[in-house]
Amino acid sequence: VMASMAHLQKEKLRLQEELLALQEKLAAQENNELSLSLQLQGQVETLKAKLLEQAQEISRLRSEQGGTDAEKHRDLLAAENERLRQEMKACEGELRELQRQQQAPCRDCPHLQENAVLQEQLSQLQREAEEMRAKLVELDLEVQQKTNRLAEVELRLKDSLAERAEEEERLSRRLRDSQETIASLKSQPQQIKYIIKTVEVESAKAKQALCETQSRNQYLQEQVGMQKQVLKEMEQQLQRSQKTEAQLRAQIMMYEAELERAHGQMLEEMQAMEEEKNHAIEEAFSRAQVEMKAVHENLAGVRTNLLTLQPALRTLTHDYNSLKRQVRDFPVLLQETLRSARAEISQAIEEVHSTNRELLRKYRRELQLRKKCHNELVRLKGNIRVFGRVRPITKEDGEGPEAANAVTFDADDDAVLYLLHKGKQVSFELDKVFPPQASQEEVFQEVQALVTSCIDGYNVCIFAYGQTGAGKTYTMEGTAANPGINQRALQLLFSEVRGKAADWDYTITVSAAEIYNEALRDLLGKEPQEKLEIKLCPDGSGQLYVPGLTEFRVQSVEDINKVFESGHIKRVTECTNLNEHSSRSHALLIVTVRGLDRSTGLRTTGKLNLVDLAGSERVGRSGAEGSRLREAQHINKSLSALGDVIYALRSRQGHVPFRNSKLTYLLQDSLSGDSKTLMMVQVSPAEKNTSETLCSLKFAERVRSVELGPVSRKAELGSWPSQEHLEGDSPGSAAPPGRSHASPSPGQLSSRSASIRRKLHTSG
Ligand code: ADP
Ligand code: MG
Repeated sequence: VMASMAHLQKEKLRLQEELLALQEKLAAQENNELSLSLQLQGQVETLKAKLLEQAQEISRLRSEQGGTDAEKHRDLLAAENERLRQEMKACEGELRELQRQQQAPCRDCPHLQENAVLQEQLSQLQREAEEMRAKLVELDLEVQQKTNRLAEVELRLKDSLAERAEEEERLSRRLRDSQETIASLKSQPQQIKYIIKTVEVESAKAKQALCETQSRNQYLQEQVGMQKQVLKEMEQQLQRSQKTEAQLRAQIMMYEAELERAHGQMLEEMQAMEEEKNHAIEEAFSRAQVEMKAVHENLAGVRTNLLTLQPALRTLTHDYNSLKRQVRDFPVLLQETLRSARAEISQAIEEVHSTNRELLRKYRRELQLRKKCHNELVRLKGNIRVFGRVRPITKEDGEGPEAANAVTFDADDDAVLYLLHKGKQVSFELDKVFPPQASQEEVFQEVQALVTSCIDGYNVCIFAYGQTGAGKTYTMEGTAANPGINQRALQLLFSEVRGKAADWDYTITVSAAEIYNEALRDLLGKEPQEKLEIKLCPDGSGQLYVPGLTEFRVQSVEDINKVFESGHIKRVTECTNLNEHSSRSHALLIVTVRGLDRSTGLRTTGKLNLVDLAGSERVGRSGAEGSRLREAQHINKSLSALGDVIYALRSRQGHVPFRNSKLTYLLQDSLSGDSKTLMMVQVSPAEKNTSETLCSLKFAERVRSVELGPVSRKAELGSWPSQEHLEGDSPGSAAPPGRSHASPSPGQLSSRSASIRRKLHTSG
């Protein structure tokens, strides 16, 4: 036990030493630990301060430009973007409005191009903005990532800080425990002794605990190192993050600048566009104003015009409407009118036709009636009329009592004349008496009705009767200056025919013939000496014709002149005893008028026979011999035959002795029927011719006084005298002895035709 005691003592000493050492060690450790703890505390303090600083920095960063700031910035940008978008939209709306406004008035204006350029720019800007937006989104994403990482780092830092704080607390608790232990150890040496003992006992335990503490310390130190490294890392990370942040900030700034620039550009462009727009609007406005002004002016003018035009327009509208109505109704109206007109026309035509037929019928009936009336009139009045013409006293009548005037007239009655014969005044009544002063014109006026009736188809005979030198040729042929009936009749015929040319076709032909000693000769023929025969027409019509008698168609007096000029009458040159011959032959001018009524087809033929009879003077019974006697016999015979025929006709006897002479035979169809005959009895007023005048007037009166009707005819029949101045009334009777007549020579024959030619020619 002593040993053990000693040993223990020794052990105790050693332990004490050891304890002391340990104490020293502990103190050192304590010091070390204190310093370490101080250091650590300082470190913790600095770390805390750093942490705080960092936290502050983070919060600052966060507030300044951290995640929230970036977000804010982003939000701001987004808001800005949104605003811009709104603005753009408004601008687009405005632009569209502008386009819509400007599209109509200025379709071809340069603003359209400007607009297109602007739109292109706008779209480019929009594209750029879109790109920016995409970039922004990218940046946002990056910032988000960074923020996330930062948050992570913070979290980790927090964790480590918490861990550290925990460790510190644990360490400080251990330190406190250790200090307490040390203090307790110090205050209680027995106890310490005990404890030493305990410690000695528990030294192993302490050693173990020390070891543990040492290892723990080691671990803590490692931990601290690790923490330091982490801190370092974190610092590095922070630095990186700061760098990144700076980069980001720079980038953001750049973006911001870019955005600013883009915004400015956009604003500028917008402004430019706005300006352009305003300009365009202004221009358009000014133009519109100008146009408006012009339009206003125009409008004013138009308004005034309109005001003046309005009534006209109203009437025009009215007219137009009525016209329209009329036009609309026109075809119907026209058709109706046409139909009715056609109907009317056809009706009218029909009426005209029927009227025409009726008229034609009436006309024919009237013609017949007229003819009937005419015939009746002729029957009542007699178609044979007797005129007397007294020629004036001429130089040839000489002077003295022989040339005295023996004829006087009744002032009140132009049909009566008085002849003083052998101291006795004998009165004669004819149809008309022409005194010496009566002109050719006056005579023709009384005759022209007869002439024109031959146009109507009547046959007419005009005879000039009387002694030689009584004026027969003067009345029939006249002189060049004062033409007679022949010329005037032809002229009248031509003019009448011309007047009726619209409805009628007329042909007028002339023939000239002479009857001398009962021989008929053609005065226009090539062989005037040739005796012509009168024959019955072979057609059985009972008409007579003279084969070989030359007929010339004439249309004017000039034609007649040509006929007589170019005719064979020319050859007659020998005219020694012209008047001598002419007074012993009958000269005939035969005018035939043939008419055709084109509308009715009616044909008419009228014949005008103008006869210059041979002298009616008595030939002395004793003096007449040979040819003279024969001449006288022929003249007597033909004149008596003419008287007989006229008498027979007027007294309407069944038999008319036409064939008793060549003259009556030739003129048969112009004396019979409803033909008209005029006997112009020519007388000389001279005293020396009174006995011949008396004879002629007696002949005239006898011809005229033949009364109509069968009783009177009978009564008159016996009293019709033969030619008093000639013996042998019938052609067959032989010439009584003692009457001698000189026969005309062949040369004398032609003298008559020469006379006719001359008269007609000169009077043309
Ligand atoms: P006729 O033919 O009967 O023998 P004329 O005709 O030869 O008779 O007439 C004889 C003359 O009398 C002519 O010189 C003619 O000019 C003239 N004479 C006849 N009648 C008239 C008259 N009415 N006026 C003037 N002179 C006339
Ligand atoms: Mg004569």
